[in-house]
Amino acid sequence: MPRPPLPAVAVVALALAGCGADAEPDVAFEGAATVPPSAATPADPAAAAALDRPAAPDATRVAATTDAAAPATADTELDDPPLAGRTIVVDPGHNGASASRPDVINRTVWIGNRRKACQAVGTTSVRGLPEHRYTWLLAGALRDELRARGARVVLTRGDDRGVGPCIDRRARIANAAEADAAVSIHGDGGPATGRGFHVILPGRVPQVGGHDAIVAPSRRLGLELRRAYRRGSGMPYATYLGRAGLDVRTDLGGLNLLRVPGVMIETGNMRNATDARRMSSAAWRARAARALADGVTRFLER
Ligand SMILES: [Zn+2]
Repeated sequence: MPRPPLPAVAVVALALAGCGADAEPDVAFEGAATVPPSAATPADPAAAAALDRPAAPDATRVAATTDAAAPATADTELDDPPLAGRTIVVDPGHNGASASRPDVINRTVWIGNRRKACQAVGTTSVRGLPEHRYTWLLAGALRDELRARGARVVLTRGDDRGVGPCIDRRARIANAAEADAAVSIHGDGGPATGRGFHVILPGRVPQVGGHDAIVAPSRRLGLELRRAYRRGSGMPYATYLGRAGLDVRTDLGGLNLLRVPGVMIETGNMRNATDARRMSSAAWRARAARALADGVTRFLER
């Protein structure tokens, strides 16, 4: 008999190990809960039908013939999904309760070349959607998309009700996970007349050992994300800063401390009515997540 096809979703039941105090059991449970249906159910309806069918001589003969005649086809079907064996860290910017704890988030941390506040509260869209909520929703959609492609996904926070983690820790989570790519998701608070997205690439920070080696691969990741995101999400390049949807910065802890390839993406301007309308739409966020996953996949397929 041919071996059954791989489940469509090769999910790692990730318990967010390494995310520390911000990882909560409900997230691990939520992740685990998605596993059984796909793992237990053959993805191929024909295979399911074959299992249900009585072992009639005809069915046996067909299966045997298939097995003998087309081993190459069976092997092709068993190819690993595109991100199998890869670890992607997804960082949903900010957090839901940070605004209530200025004493914690205003404490400064060292980011390699200066001190900076542990975390910012983030912006709120003109439609009233807080950035922390938006990044949490988009990050969840991206996590699902990446897992469906076989990746192990680590989120830097486990819910949208907490404080932190600080920006330095978010980078260290990506380093500790030995991520193949790290993507930090934000929504910008730009001028109301400005539209669009931009990708922020890490610049050189020689004070941080191992960082400068990831500047070039991070740029490649950023270029793939820029192309995939513009095409898939329909967002234009930012009209109010950066150049052709790109910016390079050395004042962001989440990038400065990275020792694995990573970028930040300001996925749209939440203070612009047109961008904000899209960012409030779950259907648009699903498209945006698919586009981001496409960019990561392209980067890792090279
Ligand atoms: Zn932000």
